Amino acid sequence: MDDARQREVLLQAAEAALRFRAQVPNARQRPHVSYHEALSAFAEEMPETGVAPEDVMAELVTRATPGLQTPMGPRFFGWVMGGSHPVGVAADWLTSAWGQNAWNHAAAPSAAAAETVAARWLLDVLRLPPETSVGFVTGATIASFVCLSAARSTVLQRAGWDVAQKGIFGAPPITLLIGDDAHPTVYAVLQFLGFGTANVRRVSTDESGVMKLEAFSAALNNCDGPLIVVTQAGQMNTGAFDQHETICALAHARGAWVHVDGAFGLWARACPDRQHLAVGVEQADSWAMDGHKWLQTPFDSGYAFVRDAEAHRRAMTIAPSYLPPVDERDRDPGHYVPELSRRARGFPTWAMLRHLGRAGIAEMVERHCRLSRLFAERLGEVPGITIMNEVVLNQTVVRFGDASATETGDDLTRRVIERLQEDGTCFLGGASWKGKWVMRISVIGWATTEDDVNRTIGVITRIWNEVTP
Ligand SMILES: *Cc1c(COP(=O)(O)O)cnc(C)c1O
Repeated sequence: MDDARQREVLLQAAEAALRFRAQVPNARQRPHVSYHEALSAFAEEMPETGVAPEDVMAELVTRATPGLQTPMGPRFFGWVMGGSHPVGVAADWLTSAWGQNAWNHAAAPSAAAAETVAARWLLDVLRLPPETSVGFVTGATIASFVCLSAARSTVLQRAGWDVAQKGIFGAPPITLLIGDDAHPTVYAVLQFLGFGTANVRRVSTDESGVMKLEAFSAALNNCDGPLIVVTQAGQMNTGAFDQHETICALAHARGAWVHVDGAFGLWARACPDRQHLAVGVEQADSWAMDGHKWLQTPFDSGYAFVRDAEAHRRAMTIAPSYLPPVDERDRDPGHYVPELSRRARGFPTWAMLRHLGRAGIAEMVERHCRLSRLFAERLGEVPGITIMNEVVLNQTVVRFGDASATETGDDLTRRVIERLQEDGTCFLGGASWKGKWVMRISVIGWATTEDDVNRTIGVITRIWNEVTP
């Protein structure tokens, strides 16, 4: 491929991306076609011969565009997804174009350097212990996998068992304490790590999804042997935080490792207005967080933070023969993640932190939290609409019709969500919360303004009036 051709195909991609991005704010905040229609646009047998680069790009754009979701839309409030900010996207384009294999500092010096500095910045802005090591991974799920691998190795080591040498079979059983409303991905991680349901004690939670302290202490007093505690900074429905100060103190007195799932909520620590929620979080032993949620980097991006860097390396090092000299360890990203060959995820993270700065992050997170309170206040005034949570962060749980657990309330809530998705002014989804079907509003996209929220409140109210019995 000559220079001119290469230039053309890269510009073609950039132009298609710009066209897509330009129409998002005014487009329907949802895909135009279903999965089955998207599939029929792609469905073909394996081609026998190839086609020209510009034809591939043109085909890809034509086939994919109708089925694209719009998480970067200003009125996209579904799930808990960031909006892939243009600066993060631009840095991510370069990451692909530069084509670095970021496993170690010799293979990719700048990629390793960007991670080293972005790691330091993240610890600074989140006010986590400075000795903490950071693995740049694909998201909070794999971040928890990394952290809990380090936890498993450490608590077993304290019990006199070297898991790297002896494996998990026959090891002293580890007990895991976890809140009843933990994120389902944590259970997936436990399964990867060889924990079964028999190892897990679920601690009962209050109406906001936070572990009840009496239940937690009772569970703690009731188990012996190696112990890991998993807490939440930002419950996925309510945004609520476990009481970290007390939990960390009690757990550490028992010799336990405390891991925090802070996929989006950990960012509250970067915010003068919200940091009271996350007091004591810094006393934990490990933390999982996403870049592709509140930091607005493109998918995929997450961070595994482990206070004990040695435990982190012990759990993730590929093989002893790969172990570099001690003075090089800190420079090699590959010692803190499961992969060998890997994307240079430090570049988009560095770019977003450089773009927003401490003040920009605080402004954005506070704006989202303020807009969430606006949603709750205004919708809470509408007859027949109930706000089911105290809005402490960016998550609002809404129920239509009967607020108690009835099929009518479930049905009305489902119908409102369905009509809202058909309308397309905004995107909102449903969730099951404490045995009820609810609508969840996540304000987390960089592009969302007060106007977008007012417009969305208008549509929700209109549709509720149409649906209301
Ligand atoms: C999103 C989320 C996860 C999973 O994160 P991924 O980036 O999708 O792997 C885990 N916990 C919480 C609280 C989340 O919101």
